[in-house]
Amino acid sequence: MKNLSAFKQFMSQPRRVVIVTHHKPDADALGSSLGLCGYLQNCGHTVQVISPSDYPVFLHWMPGNDRVLIDEEKNKQTIARYFENAEIIFCLDFSSLNRINNLGDTVRKSTAKKVLIDHHLEPEHFADFEQWDSRAASTAGLVYELIIELGGRNKIDATIADCLYAGLMTDTGGFRHNNTRREEFMIASDLVSLGANPTKVSKLIYDTNTLDRLRLMGFVLSEKLTVLPEFNTAYITLSQQELKRFGSQTGDTEGFVNYGLSIKGIRLSVMIYERSDEIKLSFRSLGNFSVNELARKHFEGGGHKNAAGGSSKLTLEATTQKFLDLLPEYKQQLTAADDSE
Ligand code: 5GP
Ligand code: MN
Repeated sequence: MKNLSAFKQFMSQPRRVVIVTHHKPDADALGSSLGLCGYLQNCGHTVQVISPSDYPVFLHWMPGNDRVLIDEEKNKQTIARYFENAEIIFCLDFSSLNRINNLGDTVRKSTAKKVLIDHHLEPEHFADFEQWDSRAASTAGLVYELIIELGGRNKIDATIADCLYAGLMTDTGGFRHNNTRREEFMIASDLVSLGANPTKVSKLIYDTNTLDRLRLMGFVLSEKLTVLPEFNTAYITLSQQELKRFGSQTGDTEGFVNYGLSIKGIRLSVMIYERSDEIKLSFRSLGNFSVNELARKHFEGGGHKNAAGGSSKLTLEATTQKFLDLLPEYKQQLTAADDSE
């Protein structure tokens, strides 16, 4: 953090803190938020974590989950009060305020100090303090580094370490993606020293499938995964009806998009699925092909070079057609030799 001493000074007395993360938080969003929450509480601050939406059941084990406020009708007033009273707001794992829905306006207008802790490309500069690094594989890792910079390592207990480890593990795809640097292993190693339990965390996140989800995955892989060899592309579409057929819950589709990318020769994988209010797109790529650019330019989204997301207000069919119509424009990039893969 550039202005670390000013930040340290501000945090040198007990503060009323709000931590907010992005819509449909994943393990990094929630893990970094709850890890930071635990640390700030250990420092004597009063902290409230707020999520713009619900999130998968396989994240509910995280210590502090019970106190997270979800921005739904019954919590609106309470949440408004927390924001009004906040002296400092931490924004974790998102780079633009439209990722937190209507809470974006609240944060923008708030007179509280703001902190951005994030690793997405092209951040919106709305914060007073930034712990931002697009090379970092996870926001959880950035939270760890900030705590170290603050000299607070002794305040990281095992529950905090588990939360941060969860974010680090999932955003690196289990330390496999090309964002996994030496630093990620160093942080993971230190978190284990501090009490994180990798076996427990990976079991809780990856191996708590419902039978419904496994059946949905089987259906997706056998009937919904389409490969377009001429574009080195694979894609999956999923309607609400199909999702309902398998009793799908929030988070059940997570990771499906990676299967497309696991096919030999595939460089771009996309999952397009229907949510109650919009169409959501999930993009993954290999090498130099930037799905951040694709999502930003055509689907009101963004993310990282090789993992991004977006949305569309068109129908599922029209969104899929829009995506397919774009492919010839990218054919050259998708099929050219790429040594960086
Ligand atoms: P996923 O496909 O797993 O939902 O998201 C992949 C990456 O893209 C994550 O880093 C996520 O935060 C980001 N992302 C997902 N959806 C959106 C979106 O609608 N807008 C932006 N800017 N980023 C997104
Ligand atoms: Mn992240």
